Amino acid sequence: DAERASHLADREHLLAPRRSNAELEALAHEAEARFDSPDTTTSEVLAWVAETFGLRTAVACSMADAVLPAVVAEHIDWVDTLFLDTGYHFAETLGTRDAVESSMRLTIVDVLPLQTVAEQDAEHGAELHRRDPAQCCAMRKVEPLTRTLAGYEAWITGVRRDEGPTRATTPWVTWDDKNGLVKINPLATWTFDDVLDYARDHDVIINPLVNDGYPSIGCAPCTRRVAPGEDPRAGRWAGFDKTECGLHT
Ligand code: SF4
Repeated sequence: DAERASHLADREHLLAPRRSNAELEALAHEAEARFDSPDTTTSEVLAWVAETFGLRTAVACSMADAVLPAVVAEHIDWVDTLFLDTGYHFAETLGTRDAVESSMRLTIVDVLPLQTVAEQDAEHGAELHRRDPAQCCAMRKVEPLTRTLAGYEAWITGVRRDEGPTRATTPWVTWDDKNGLVKINPLATWTFDDVLDYARDHDVIINPLVNDGYPSIGCAPCTRRVAPGEDPRAGRWAGFDKTECGLHT
């Protein structure tokens, strides 16, 4: 629509000078201390993000649901929402991406690997994810995200403490040394039920797979259903000693 087109034509925020890493790191540490309280709320953290970084913020979205972009959009209009287009997604995930783009006031940025799946197969052999998922994730997720994040000052993720042991101490705000920007986790204290409740109350799009046994959704070859009561991330890279793709570790 016209409003979206006008926003896309005017994305100068990405070209404007970016604060130095030293300045960003100081901001991150200040905020980490300020928000390190049981009384901190998602709204309070996002109000600070909007005021401090505005559109120099990127939201990471796996398209398991649109709750994170919806919560952020309450504070930042047309925020860039990064979708890691690995080439291995479920059809339902791609459908969710398209539905989010056409119905919400945000800007989807497709983050692409340097190689297509066919090019990767030619160089590394077919189905690298079956043999070396760490290398596959490094090429299809971590490198593309790192390259894309370089243009921003802050990124927002949907990481929650209840997702499993590797995420149990997730802070509200932290300095992401690897990517050189401030990392914000505004849903850190939410539970999976909180996410579903927010989606229901605000009519937010949910990937149909979530209600079909997939509480955590990644690439199709590396995600299986989980049984009731199982760790929500137990269906990711089942059979491998791997629970994270490397984006948050
Ligand atoms: Fe490759 Fe699987 Fe990682 Fe996707 S989740 S990038 S298919 S290893």
